[in-house]
Amino acid sequence: MSKRDYYEVLGVERTATDVEIKKAYRSLAIQHHPDKNPDDPHAEEKFKEAAEAYSVLSDEQKRAAYDRFGHQAGAAAGGGFGFDPAGFTNFEDIFDMFGFGDMFGQRGGRRTTVQRGSDLRYDIEITLEDAAAGKDEKLRIPRLERCEECEGSGSEKGTKPEICITCGGSGQTQYKQGFFSVMRTCPNCAGNGRIIKTPCKNCHGQGRIEKEKTLELKIPAGVETGSRLRVQGEGEAGVNGGPSGDLFVVVHVAEHESFERQGNNLYSAVPVTFAQAALGADIKVKTLDGEEDLKVPAGTQTGTIFRVKGHGMPNLGGRGKGDLFVAVTLVTPKSLTKEQRKLLEQLAEIEDSDFSDESFMDKVRSIFS
Ligand SMILES: [Zn+2]
Ligand SMILES: [Zn+2]
Repeated sequence: MSKRDYYEVLGVERTATDVEIKKAYRSLAIQHHPDKNPDDPHAEEKFKEAAEAYSVLSDEQKRAAYDRFGHQAGAAAGGGFGFDPAGFTNFEDIFDMFGFGDMFGQRGGRRTTVQRGSDLRYDIEITLEDAAAGKDEKLRIPRLERCEECEGSGSEKGTKPEICITCGGSGQTQYKQGFFSVMRTCPNCAGNGRIIKTPCKNCHGQGRIEKEKTLELKIPAGVETGSRLRVQGEGEAGVNGGPSGDLFVVVHVAEHESFERQGNNLYSAVPVTFAQAALGADIKVKTLDGEEDLKVPAGTQTGTIFRVKGHGMPNLGGRGKGDLFVAVTLVTPKSLTKEQRKLLEQLAEIEDSDFSDESFMDKVRSIFS
């Protein structure tokens, strides 16, 4: 597998200072953070790639080795530079490792004792009508909740977890590899810093148990596909009494058979007959919540777009609405009654079929060119 050059990954010169490297990494980490790019499957990859590059270039010794031997340097040391992105169970680890713990404001706390619960993502599909009007939705969410029996400690009632001897409660041990030394998750306590001698029978020492929770969610009018609704504290329970994560509800608006949406505007088509287009007519057009009158003036061409003001989608969290744009489509009848045929034949006889009109011929030419 070929790997990108670490300097290229961070977008810095080979002569970049530590400060420049840190700055470049920070902005990449923020840009590609998977929480911020839920719909981009490559975001996580880029995020990890940047983290790996930073882990090497921010370390004087590793950087020197990399400058001399490139990616080979890591391989020579046995198993890379000691950075194993797969070993990181979540992104807090990476931020903790680089001391960026509070980078996003909400990510506090060392994992050793208290750990925030995971954020949950819930995808929901709604109709365009519901997106326009808003909706109260009942969600059934399977998630890990705090065990009531042991109050989340994982230790049987009346007992207490003991401090891990191997890591002294820090949850991490130093691992030496050649001249590199890396902090690793403590193998004895799996990073918890504590050992549960008598596990709670209800949760088997996990401190959390899986439950299905029903939640009422107010979907605001105006949401669109990709809208993320954050429900604070409704993610998974924290570990060792840590705060719960958040629930993110990602909205998908189903395609509508009659309307297409662009931003807050809606687009649709309405059929008219030749007579209506030629003579003008008052027609009805379908809106999302009913019908509106539309005046089609005499001489309307097929494809002409009319605006029905205020019948688009509402602004999310604001006032006002977009518009509905209706394209008039001239429909040629596929079969005619006797009377229709007779009248049309009469029309054809007297019709001025002189299409030498220049703009018309221009159109014809453009079709065949
Ligand atoms: Zn329990
Ligand atoms: Zn330990």
